[in-house]
Amino acid sequence: MRNATIFTMSLLCFALLSSCSKPAANLVLLNGEVYTMEPSHPWASTVVITGNKITAVLDNAEDADGYIGPNTRVVDLKERFAVPGFIDGHVHFNGAGALINDANLLTVSDDQGLRVEMQRVVNIIDDEEWITGGLWGAYEKWALGAAESGPKRQRRWEPSRWTIDDLTPKNPCLLSSYDGELFLANTAALKAAGLENARLPGMKLDSTRLPTGLIYRGSPALEKIRSVVKRKSHNRLLDENRAALKRLAESGIVEVHDIARPEQTARFVELQENGELTCRVWLRPDLSRGAELKEKGLQMGLHPKTKKPDHWLRYGALKGYVDGIMGTHGALFFKPYDDQPDNYGHYRRHTSDDPELKIGNMDKLYHLIKIGYDAGFVANVHAIGTKGVALLLDTYERLMKELGKNLEGFRVIHAQVVRQEDFPRFKKLNIIAEVNPYHLSDDMRWMEERIGHERCKGAYAFKSLLDNGAILSFGSDWPGTSAAEYLVHPKYLINAAVNRTTLNGTPEGGWFPKQKISVHEALKAYTINNAYAAFEDDIRGSIKAGKLADITVCNLNLMKIDPSDILKMNVDITIVDGKIVFEREK
Ligand SMILES: [Zn+2]
Repeated sequence: MRNATIFTMSLLCFALLSSCSKPAANLVLLNGEVYTMEPSHPWASTVVITGNKITAVLDNAEDADGYIGPNTRVVDLKERFAVPGFIDGHVHFNGAGALINDANLLTVSDDQGLRVEMQRVVNIIDDEEWITGGLWGAYEKWALGAAESGPKRQRRWEPSRWTIDDLTPKNPCLLSSYDGELFLANTAALKAAGLENARLPGMKLDSTRLPTGLIYRGSPALEKIRSVVKRKSHNRLLDENRAALKRLAESGIVEVHDIARPEQTARFVELQENGELTCRVWLRPDLSRGAELKEKGLQMGLHPKTKKPDHWLRYGALKGYVDGIMGTHGALFFKPYDDQPDNYGHYRRHTSDDPELKIGNMDKLYHLIKIGYDAGFVANVHAIGTKGVALLLDTYERLMKELGKNLEGFRVIHAQVVRQEDFPRFKKLNIIAEVNPYHLSDDMRWMEERIGHERCKGAYAFKSLLDNGAILSFGSDWPGTSAAEYLVHPKYLINAAVNRTTLNGTPEGGWFPKQKISVHEALKAYTINNAYAAFEDDIRGSIKAGKLADITVCNLNLMKIDPSDILKMNVDITIVDGKIVFEREK
């Protein structure tokens, strides 16, 4: 009797256990080359996903049989490469959508190119909507991502309204050159401002004294046109967001750490409520907002509307700035720029009270970081030049001493040029180096000319950071600055970090090749390290049972291919929270 009871009970337990441990999966990925980023089980073939979680990571496809029910979708990966979904540690989401759906003229420097781009935008947007942006001529001298292209022209290309009028009768246009010196208005825009036949100062006229549409910076004519530019409609802004989300899904990116702007945060909430959010978002508001967010009952990890923890949309760190950028000779150095002997770079408003931003006030930054910390936020602060990075590390050291405990989650954003003596300080202070590898593919064309060979040894020095024990976080800085476009697809960042070349493979052997890092280290910086940087490595960032199911499937096994083939990598499937959000058509 007693034995029989025990037997029955164990049968019952067995039945319960097996039904508990193997509920039918929603999705099973079979026969892959799955690189888990888990050191104890680095490779697997099969991943079982139930609801939004990974429930099993298996070495043989047959082991998944017990999880497959009538409603399980089974995807045969056919030996394709699967990794934890890519997490982009640095984007400007709002601007990215605008660059996709509004005019992108960064690579345009002739009439033909301008017409092609205008036609593309007219096809996307509604009548009466303005076409703005542009930034023509940024790559007149260099092709995008190339070390060199044709020789610089003698005279700058100048478009006129007649170049685009026939394409844009119903869309007023106000386009700008990359340096903001010159603007182009089409006839619809001139009409809207009552300037069609005007001859105001700053307007370029043709031989018959008609306005060509070209208008110079700072002129009254420009002010007049600017005052009539219609704001983008809410729907158009949402469409820009949708275009950016689509690009992220196609790129295998499951989360972005966004440099947040309040109006964009509201759109994220709307997209999430509509069920259209296909990428997790970790919002990084400006460093000056710590007290205000605290007042509203918000802190790191909380959703901007519900104020509850949320793994799709939530506040992250506060973003501050120490110095300018390399592209404009604004990054802060101890010694002046080689090609501008009086220029050491400049501070930013978080680190200066001087209107010229030449005089530093790091106390100001320290207090903003402290207020933010007391409000429940860590700081992620932009620092690019050697002095900018050193001053920021000093500030973090001061904070660590005052708090009397180790820092966690604080970042040096960009960490572009670092002095040799500052490399070990990242580990000592437990500071994350958030780097943007693609910047090097683009910036190497002028880095040595600007700061010389010696300082370049510490530039984009990812290997030195790793060798000194720093935690690397990768971010694209998508979509870029007025002088450069930064691409978002992970292959560009991985290529830059591993090969240190431009998109056309120059220079041979790589730029400062001692700083090349391995594909494994690059993948780590793109996955588990970025989950750690958002305080969520316990629930995301690797392929492990119990973690959220964020997985990217690629056409090529990056761990096996020749590194010179990295740019041939494509994303085939993107899974976020257990759902397929992108699948490449066969
Ligand atoms: Zn940025």
